Amino acid sequence: MPKQNFETDAIRCQLERTQFQEHSTPLYLTSSYVFDNAEEMRASFADEKDRNIYSRYSNPNTSEFIEKICQMEHAEAGFAFASGMAAVFSTFAALLDTGDHIVCSSSIFGSTQTMLNSIFPKWNIATSFFNVNNLKDIESLIQPNTKLIYAESPTNPGVDILDLEYLGKIAKKHNVILIIDNCFATPYLQQPIPFGADLVIHSATKLLDGQGRVLGGITVGKSDLIHKIYLFARNTGPALSPFNAWVLSKSLETLAVRVDRHCENALHVAKVLESQPQIKRVKYPFLNSHPQHELAKKQMKHGGNVIAFELKGGLEAGRRFLDAIQLLSLTANLGDTRTIVSHPASTTHAKLTDEQRATAGITPGMIRISVGLEHPEDVLKDVLQALKQ
Ligand SMILES: *Cc1c(COP(=O)(O)O)cnc(C)c1O
Repeated sequence: MPKQNFETDAIRCQLERTQFQEHSTPLYLTSSYVFDNAEEMRASFADEKDRNIYSRYSNPNTSEFIEKICQMEHAEAGFAFASGMAAVFSTFAALLDTGDHIVCSSSIFGSTQTMLNSIFPKWNIATSFFNVNNLKDIESLIQPNTKLIYAESPTNPGVDILDLEYLGKIAKKHNVILIIDNCFATPYLQQPIPFGADLVIHSATKLLDGQGRVLGGITVGKSDLIHKIYLFARNTGPALSPFNAWVLSKSLETLAVRVDRHCENALHVAKVLESQPQIKRVKYPFLNSHPQHELAKKQMKHGGNVIAFELKGGLEAGRRFLDAIQLLSLTANLGDTRTIVSHPASTTHAKLTDEQRATAGITPGMIRISVGLEHPEDVLKDVLQALKQ
């Protein structure tokens, strides 16, 4: 839970100093921890003591990272994972039993989509998808065996905004667990728990690290649910490495300043793109033209760093645009200091059928830009020259 202002907690929440009186948190590269005697070892394994046993269960660096995210997200507890997908998979696997049912937004990260469509059905866990523009459909999809509702906002890659307060109310009314993947917003821009989410998931690989260095993931929220996730993870081994946790905890110290600048740059780029003749439509949550602009302003501090736009020339124009890019990066990541452009229809979402892509809001000529921290005029210069080709 937050103690001070966001920026202060992000910097001042840290482990107790060791006898060396270090100013910055040291890296604890140890796979296990020693016990003084048989009784202490017994009590620790019996969960009677809250202490480190083995780094698959917990580690000081991971604990610091988890504590920071819990404060930022207003969460009671959390567990950190080796990647965002490890967090998504372990959270689902820990909470679901065979025969359970999921209600999920059709506009979600590609690997999450694939997991729900081809992995969970093996254990007789089915998913019904709702369109992000028809949240009213959710109630009709809920069945007696529905265990959880899952959604992202803003969505990837369509940057649609889902009404978190509405989702929270529906989940509560039907007594199902609401999980929000808050990766695109980061806890600096949006906190789903006060709106009614039970759990929040992040791919820490994106803006939380923000510098394209490490993979990581985290789930935070209600302590009873986190305890189940902890027991599952403790025995199955998807834990975040201490080194990555140390990097990520440091990254959080600059999250607010970085994300402020990312958003400022993205808004500027989005405004200029809106007036380009080769572009049919620009989608950015803090543009007046975004269909859910008012909702975005209600639940987010700024609009985030991802812009989606639709080229008039469709699939071919999308590929030509990528080929003409010079400065910016063509890569699978997002939320980096470096601006990244991608063409979802031919890359991240290529494995989906045309119909699945359409319901996920991905059109053939859609380009996604994750605006970085370069000077925005240099970003624009590259985008505009590529548009002209
Ligand atoms: C990247 C991403 C993930 C997966 O995270 P990894 O760290 O790559 O495993 C999940 N959800 C969203 C919205 C993402 O952007």
